[in-house]
Amino acid sequence: MNDAAFRAVDAILAKREGSEHSEADLEALVRGYVAGDVPDYQMAAWLMAVCFQGMTERETARLTLAMAHSGEVLDLRDLPHTVDKHSTGGVGDKTTLVLAPLLAAMGGTVAKMSGRGLGHTGGTVDKLESIPGFRTELDEDAFLRQAREVGVVVTGQSKDLAPADGMMYALRDATGTVASLPLIASSIMSKKLAGGADAIVLDVKVGSGAFMKTLADARALAETMVAIGEHAGRQVRAVLTNMTEPLGLAVGNAVEVEEAAACLRGEGPEDLLDLCLTLAERVLDASGLPADRAALQDAVDSGRAHERFERWISAQGGDPSAVRHLELAPDTWHLRAPADGVVCRLDALAVGRAVGALGGGRSRKGDAVDAGVGVILQAKVGHAVARGDAIATVLHRNGKGLDVAKALLEGAVTVSDAAEAAPLILDRDVR
Ligand code: URA
Repeated sequence: MNDAAFRAVDAILAKREGSEHSEADLEALVRGYVAGDVPDYQMAAWLMAVCFQGMTERETARLTLAMAHSGEVLDLRDLPHTVDKHSTGGVGDKTTLVLAPLLAAMGGTVAKMSGRGLGHTGGTVDKLESIPGFRTELDEDAFLRQAREVGVVVTGQSKDLAPADGMMYALRDATGTVASLPLIASSIMSKKLAGGADAIVLDVKVGSGAFMKTLADARALAETMVAIGEHAGRQVRAVLTNMTEPLGLAVGNAVEVEEAAACLRGEGPEDLLDLCLTLAERVLDASGLPADRAALQDAVDSGRAHERFERWISAQGGDPSAVRHLELAPDTWHLRAPADGVVCRLDALAVGRAVGALGGGRSRKGDAVDAGVGVILQAKVGHAVARGDAIATVLHRNGKGLDVAKALLEGAVTVSDAAEAAPLILDRDVR
């Protein structure tokens, strides 16, 4: 069916009855929506029909490609071994800041557009903006030049990248149609495909602090996204990881940058390094580069990965030496252990919400983010504590949001007689 013959109402009826759409229909629907020919109310009705009827794997891949091609698709073909990563989002997740220079040190090219995002803490771009002078807007020439010369460049996401997704996501948010596996998978993968990298690793988080609360849901999402990648001719790998407690010890924008830099110097928390090495192994393997764990560990131990981090920060106008003393909120409050014992629960979502309450995140597009507030954990699940020990330090600004943050953190922690940390990597090779 060509666009002239396409009628959105027929697509809605077909989906309502559970039919599979053709490639041409999905292209016409997405193109028509972006052009303003398909109104919001028809798109909303179609999205709701998808929520109830679902989509086949083939259909989901077709929708994703139509969304990816609704705007500019970055052309990275002249760059060697282009690699990208996506995380479905979690608390304390600063992996991009570690992984990008690590991959560049291993011969990959990371030319990435990253979201500011909505959430309890900022997105990667917000975190990077806590470094004085760091520029997150580069024109295309500068973006590609830096990718070629430094092997790593990260900027804010351009409006032209998969614009259909931006429009559809806003509509889904307002019409109760976010929670649909094919819609979530196509939304995420349309941006990744438009981002242009050949090899992509997906970190699908599971648990209280994650979008996907159960292992079964996370696995289904990961499998769907890997299948979309295959359909699109990209090498996609997915890893399932635990997000019941925060990743690493630092949650907040500036404190996460500091922790990522420490991790690249070999001085960071073990769980963060373990996850970054795992994601690096998977995506390097996907891109045909040697990917053994010892070589990756050597890139950290030898200082090569950290040196690449410093080159990257300088190339985008930041002062790498400032990363060791970023501006942090000056006031502190400590969450103390209520009893002797072992931390058996440290709820990621509550910690994330606490940082959001302090001003570290945004709930609406365009809200300002306070880069200096945050929570630094002194203990994690499985750690022994004595009554009165600090479990977390809150960095706040003059008490703003502190009452809410305190209540959230007090409810986030349980200390008992014994506990073991759950494994971080739940499945390193989803197919
Ligand atoms: N993240 C996205 O980018 N899209 C969704 O639909 C859900 C989470």
